[in-house]
Amino acid sequence: MRKKIVAGNWKMNLTLLEGAELVNDIFKGLPILSEDKKVVIAPPYTHLTQTAEQLTGMIDVHLGAQNCACEASGAYTGEVSAAMLKSAEVEYVIIGHSERREYFNEDDATLAKKVNQALSNGLEVIFCCGEPLAIRDADTQNEYVENQIKAGLFHLSDSQMGHIVIAYEPIWAIGTGRTASSAQAQDMHAHIRGVVAAKYGETTAENTSILYGGSCKPSNAPELFACPDVDGGLIGGAALKASEFIGIIEAMA
Ligand code: PEP
Repeated sequence: MRKKIVAGNWKMNLTLLEGAELVNDIFKGLPILSEDKKVVIAPPYTHLTQTAEQLTGMIDVHLGAQNCACEASGAYTGEVSAAMLKSAEVEYVIIGHSERREYFNEDDATLAKKVNQALSNGLEVIFCCGEPLAIRDADTQNEYVENQIKAGLFHLSDSQMGHIVIAYEPIWAIGTGRTASSAQAQDMHAHIRGVVAAKYGETTAENTSILYGGSCKPSNAPELFACPDVDGGLIGGAALKASEFIGIIEAMA
């Protein structure tokens, strides 16, 4: 059975002190979660060790990173490897976020290498996909997202695919306050599950968690998460406020 997941992507926000306070506040309000539900917190690299210490003993809350290098090690100034993340007790890594694709020119080949690095170091991958507005307006979003998934993931073996979470994040909904309707999200998630099924079979597709991301908040999360193929959310802005993040976690219950 696939898991429901709410993952908070802090992006480039919060100092160490602010991050520690946020994690404490999340703990205070965290509901009891059943075994099939998980929370992931993905702070900036500088916060990982501190956050790992705070998460000690919290079985429902897992540590994530927002990126990793596409190479294993060496002269790559400023990069952080998947092995380093693993050694910092990171469990999940977000790969292919639209901000990485757009602002840091991360192409499909680079992202496929990052996925390989993450998996070979024992990390779970949250692989992001999603179309820009022009593609949605042209009604070609299904092919666009399908191509992103094929390019980033379809070199993986069946067992490797078991360590992939997919996050569908329409770019026009990220940080804009404009959310995909639950019908738009469900349509795309069902399409993505079908794409995974065609390559890896129904069982793998049924077991793959597919998260929605894009201006998700406590008010719209219940309707989005009630869709049969929406298995939780990747949360940006609303992950920076404990009360909002907890409201979204509650919507997964
Ligand atoms: C994101 O960037 O992954 C995201 C979903 O952001 P927001 O929730 O702020 O739209």
